[in-house]
Amino acid sequence: MSVERRAPLPNPPLRAGEGADSIDWAAIRDDFPLLKREVHGKPLVYLDSANTGQKPAVVIDAVDDFFRNHNANVSRAVHALGTEATEAYEAARGKLARFLNVRGDELVLCSGTTFALNLVAYSWALPRLKAGDAIVLTRMEHHANIVPWQLVAERTGATIKVAAITDDGALDLDHLYSLLTPEVKLLGVTHVSNVLGTVNPVREICREARRRGVVTVIDGSQAAPHRPLDVAAIGCDFYAITGHKMAGPTGTGVLWARREHLAEMPPFLGGGEMIKEVRFDGTVYADAPHKFEAGTPNIAGFVGLGAAVDYLTGIGMAAIDAREQALLAHATQALSEVQGLRIFGTAREKAAVISFLVEDAHAHDLATLLDLEGVAIRSGHHCAHPLMQHFGVPATCRASFAFYNTFEEIDAFVAALQKVRKLLL
Ligand code: PMP
Repeated sequence: MSVERRAPLPNPPLRAGEGADSIDWAAIRDDFPLLKREVHGKPLVYLDSANTGQKPAVVIDAVDDFFRNHNANVSRAVHALGTEATEAYEAARGKLARFLNVRGDELVLCSGTTFALNLVAYSWALPRLKAGDAIVLTRMEHHANIVPWQLVAERTGATIKVAAITDDGALDLDHLYSLLTPEVKLLGVTHVSNVLGTVNPVREICREARRRGVVTVIDGSQAAPHRPLDVAAIGCDFYAITGHKMAGPTGTGVLWARREHLAEMPPFLGGGEMIKEVRFDGTVYADAPHKFEAGTPNIAGFVGLGAAVDYLTGIGMAAIDAREQALLAHATQALSEVQGLRIFGTAREKAAVISFLVEDAHAHDLATLLDLEGVAIRSGHHCAHPLMQHFGVPATCRASFAFYNTFEEIDAFVAALQKVRKLLL
């Protein structure tokens, strides 16, 4: 299936307060059944959306409807159900293509960002890199954008160089560009940091990398759920997203790649669905993207992700961004009143994620006591050990916000934090 590339999106993301005012956010919150539940006898305050997002009823219903009424395997059967399942699965690809502003035949549907980045590592990098080559990563990468490259480096003899961050948690761009020397073949950068919230200027970074002949891999896991995306305009070579953080089911994700890369890359996994003809004297692979989609895919998951894309687009990604910026501003202000609280990551361009510690209290103790108050935040290393090493801490707490959160929830979170702080310190 092929979806034409659209013109670049005209509007930059709205900033705090703009555009979101006309939306009934209370009604939108009502779309999320789980947010109505209680935890430990208290109303749930879910502030862990950077970990995984909650699902609106339309997504749950779409998965339910698929299994109740349309379930069959894709691309195999000629019967009615097989056609319906294939059409629903390919319709999701088309929706994702429009969401990212790319062509559908450049999208590999997979299980998530981790799979997507490993696909690039094994299929693009492993056959190409050799001793003497280098890979550049940044200090703020998630393990999913570090370990696959370490595996490639181990096998090829390539080395890894790491771009530094500044005190406020922004990328040190001068340092990054100084690392892009001729032996560098690949640059891996997160669009938005899952720990610091920093929004990296990926368009500029990709332009600089491209000028130097460096292939760019962008981890868009924390960008796709929160802001309008125009992958075509970013100018990268690869862009990975995960469905479960953007209102979709777990086990769904997408790798976008330039067509010329997809055409040259060998398959990562072999099996059914990814071939044109199999003979013992030689197999002919299917064209991309199907060449990379061996076996039965997560059909119901992608039907759900398609519904999630419709849902997010229906609200409008610019309005979602503006709403979350307003929540972030409110939370940052409210947390500044908690004595001894230190925020990690205060870059000017920041998504709605706040990592923090309170004096000497351990992150897990804070999160455990907050849970008893009904407040769900994450504590730990957030799959970013090198970032924790940079700050000299084993763990942080992280509150992350989504458009379905409310200002009242943030006030309840900060009040609970004041209470548990007294218990711990
Ligand atoms: N990169 C970033 C920045 C993330 O936040 C995450 C999820 N925590 C991942 C990659 C991995 O995503 P997944 O587990 O869905 O593959």
